[in-house]
Amino acid sequence: MQAAVLHRYNSPLEILERPDPKPPPGWILVDVRSCGVCGSDVFLRKGGFNSTLPIVPGHEASGVVRELGEGVAPSVAPPGTPVALYYIDHCGTCRMCSVGRVNMCLSVRRMGVEYDGAFASQVLVPERNVIPVLPSDDPAAVAVLTDAVATPYHGLVRIGKVQPGETVVVFGVGGIGSNAVQLAAHLGCTVIAVSRSDAKLELAERLGAHHVVRGGEGVAERVRALCGPGGPEVVVQSVGSAVVDRQAIDTSGIGSRVILIGTTTEGFELRATDLVWRESSVWGSRGFTPTDIREVLELHRTGAVTTDHLLLHRRPLAEANEALEDLQAGRVLRSVLTFGEGW
Ligand SMILES: [Zn+2]
Ligand SMILES: [Zn+2]
Repeated sequence: MQAAVLHRYNSPLEILERPDPKPPPGWILVDVRSCGVCGSDVFLRKGGFNSTLPIVPGHEASGVVRELGEGVAPSVAPPGTPVALYYIDHCGTCRMCSVGRVNMCLSVRRMGVEYDGAFASQVLVPERNVIPVLPSDDPAAVAVLTDAVATPYHGLVRIGKVQPGETVVVFGVGGIGSNAVQLAAHLGCTVIAVSRSDAKLELAERLGAHHVVRGGEGVAERVRALCGPGGPEVVVQSVGSAVVDRQAIDTSGIGSRVILIGTTTEGFELRATDLVWRESSVWGSRGFTPTDIREVLELHRTGAVTTDHLLLHRRPLAEANEALEDLQAGRVLRSVLTFGEGW
């Protein structure tokens, strides 16, 4: 197998030949077909996740089952089955897993962060983390649906519990925010998209934003001028920036839910009165569950959401470093590493 391996932080991945792995008991060997290159991979390369090195990145992927480890029932996904991969290994029994919040499992381990991921021609996956898909699904679309679309879906539906008719403000129109825009529009909300980039504001309009607003100083006032009395019901913050975190709070109104998805470790100032006087709330939304993946796959099949804007840049594994550079420099929303055509 071929793998792109990170040996040292802030240095390029090395494309290496490795022996084909054997699936341990309870695990499945998958031939990778597509893997999205995500902001989290850039964060990983900088040492943000403090991963033990060497590590193979890659957490939003699709593939075909090659071999089942001992004890895996063939009914899970027999060899040859096209699958989406869920990157969060979870115990299934802890207090978070037992209420279905497996993304927050107390013994969470993530593919491409704590164990080797799908920047490789083959990857090992725990049996509960393969989700069979249809042969008619596009492998590249399946890959990006498992993260770039499922992450904002989780934020809007599970955390934000958005309702039709609500106004949803989306800060950032990148790999996550662009999909928050189209999902909120599909859910029947009035969508206001915020970005500093004209090209991204145009993309937001194409994806169903009802209003677009230029980011930067004074953005809260510009957005609130478009909202009804009391401001927006929901604010989704997808930018990894403490300045934008604060702008999201300033934009919120009476009874607003602010959902933070973009991550930065920098702090921002928050006064109790920001929340108390408005009886508003701030939520963190992290990742997604297999149920979220199944639901966005179905939305894609019915044409309710598109992945076209995420699939403009396809590269072979050998160009994984170029894909990371493109993302870091803001030249692309996403790149997808592909391994041949179709399943
Ligand atoms: Zn990701
Ligand atoms: Zn658990």
